[in-house]
Amino acid sequence: MIGRYTRDGVLAHVGAGKLAQVGAAGALIVAAAAVHYGSDLPAWVTPALCLASLALTGLPIVWGALSGLVRLQTNVDELVSLAIVASVILGEWITAAIVAFIMVVGGLIEELTSERARRHLEALTANSPRHALRLGDDGQVSEVPVDDLSPGDRIRVRPGDVVPADGVVEEGVSELDESALTGEAMPVARRSGDAVASGTVNLDGSLRVRVTRVGDDSTHGRIRRIVAEAERHRAPILREAERYARWFTPAILVLSGVVWAVTGDVERAVTMLIVGCPCAFVLATPTAVVAALGRASRAGILVKGGQFLEAAAQVRALAFDKTGTLTTGEAAVARVVPVDGLTADAVLGAAARLEQGSEHPVARAIVAEASRRGLADRASPPIERIPGLGVVERAADAPWRVGNRRLMDQAGVPPLAAAEAATADASDAGMTPVYVAQGRQLRGVIALQDEARPEAADALDRLAALDLEPPLLLTGDLASSAAGLASRVGISPERVRAQLLPQDKYTLLRDLEDGGRRVCYVGDGTNDGPALAVASVGVSIGSRQDTVALETADAVLMRGDLSGLPFLLRLGRATARTIHQNLIWFGLLFNASMLVLSASGSLTPILGAVGHNLGSVAVVLNSARLLRFR
Ligand code: ADP
Ligand code: MG
Repeated sequence: MIGRYTRDGVLAHVGAGKLAQVGAAGALIVAAAAVHYGSDLPAWVTPALCLASLALTGLPIVWGALSGLVRLQTNVDELVSLAIVASVILGEWITAAIVAFIMVVGGLIEELTSERARRHLEALTANSPRHALRLGDDGQVSEVPVDDLSPGDRIRVRPGDVVPADGVVEEGVSELDESALTGEAMPVARRSGDAVASGTVNLDGSLRVRVTRVGDDSTHGRIRRIVAEAERHRAPILREAERYARWFTPAILVLSGVVWAVTGDVERAVTMLIVGCPCAFVLATPTAVVAALGRASRAGILVKGGQFLEAAAQVRALAFDKTGTLTTGEAAVARVVPVDGLTADAVLGAAARLEQGSEHPVARAIVAEASRRGLADRASPPIERIPGLGVVERAADAPWRVGNRRLMDQAGVPPLAAAEAATADASDAGMTPVYVAQGRQLRGVIALQDEARPEAADALDRLAALDLEPPLLLTGDLASSAAGLASRVGISPERVRAQLLPQDKYTLLRDLEDGGRRVCYVGDGTNDGPALAVASVGVSIGSRQDTVALETADAVLMRGDLSGLPFLLRLGRATARTIHQNLIWFGLLFNASMLVLSASGSLTPILGAVGHNLGSVAVVLNSARLLRFR
């Protein structure tokens, strides 16, 4: 029997009140049986006790059936209701009470079992502090509701506190428990200048934090929304199950009617109504999905809905972004080649002035190097970011431009022999050349060195064991710059697609998908939103600094590295396998044999109810195995 579980979703709870209710119903049945078989009390006492028990257990079921009928929907309650009502009419009071009781107990067992799955998901959203300690200008501390915080506020986070908003540490050193986000039990050290995320727990030091994002914008707020969404995304799957129920119910009614007519044995028909309820069907998918989502979140993978797990099971092709995905994204400036009499510092400083307004890993590297050389901190001009190309100063007569060769070509900046030689050297060495121009005049070239992620080669190795097409590398960079990295992480040179704009990545993936191939695309959320969206499974690498990745992807690797990716794909396959098992073994074969046994008179209604619930509980237990998947 299906508990409220499938209707109220992941966040529903089994209340203590319900346990008491079921306990009382059970006690009433025992009393009724005792009266019936072993006392001289008047005959009406047994039906009265059974009715009282039914009021506790059967009434909600009948009520569910009626309210479904009123809305002209068939649901899983109707067959059982009919069986209960039929038993009552036949004077089988104790049978009616026991059947209703077993159905409700079965539902409770399912709920308690799947509660574990839910808890893992809830862990992501559980840490919601209500108050924060805000520091006034005078250094005074005042306790304010979290909703009153705004970016720019300074707050005190004491040991043991849950961080109430995203921010940057200004003072203090501490270890933080970020397991709610990453599933990683090891505390991480955070000190002045580091970002901290809301929902994580401050362990030992007191911190002063400057708030950067609050409420729904914060990491925690976004995750809360995503988990709620993951919930809602289950709806289509559920509706499908209820579609089964729509023809299931009439079919079982007709079948049991036929059996009644042929055998003249109404008990067989009643038993068929009980075992014919499509509970296993309805439970097959949501229980597996919730368990798998919970397992994923414990592994630091935030999956935005069950359908993405199902899609992950069907993935045949893999594609990776380069910068920030296969590489650390913490590129470093390796060399600066000035042109035309400028100094290297002047070129770097000019580039950094523009790049301050960009989040791209290239921009971060340039700004970091400039500030290391003491060149930063100039007012940044208004800029235009051109995805996949670079940045351009706005509203200037001879605007500065920082970006790749294509950006220069677009702006009509002619190549210079000296710069091209430096560029060729750099890209042959696996570096990314970035051009700096003023108006149509090339001013210099900055060569960036970006390292492969340490775990990338290993992750790709594990992916290779999954029998997929060889992975593609999609990059906006030059082929020569990407080739070295590709070979280091184990991607063959023929699978590198270079100099792609964000829309080229999109088109390429869309063509693969249109060709019937389910693609998993892994990106960092910078410049590849469209690609993440068009792939069947868009995976991004989460980081505390960048919540864009949280928004655009279907799944986020919250630990900020690639090692969760093979696990995600395997978990998807295991989920699909589990759903399949649930449907075939329990939904179909088990229930069909129970129907046959009922029709042949081998089962009483009570045995039918027991068997039927064993089937449903088996589905839940089978799904719960996903919680321990490795
Ligand atoms: P990737 O596939 O390597 O992640 P992107 O599409 O993010 O590529 O960027 C492609 C190229 O565009 C980069 O290699 C760089 O040359 C150029 N680019 C993009 N954004 C910037 C920027 N803010 N500053 C300079 N160059 C940029
Ligand atoms: Mg990128």
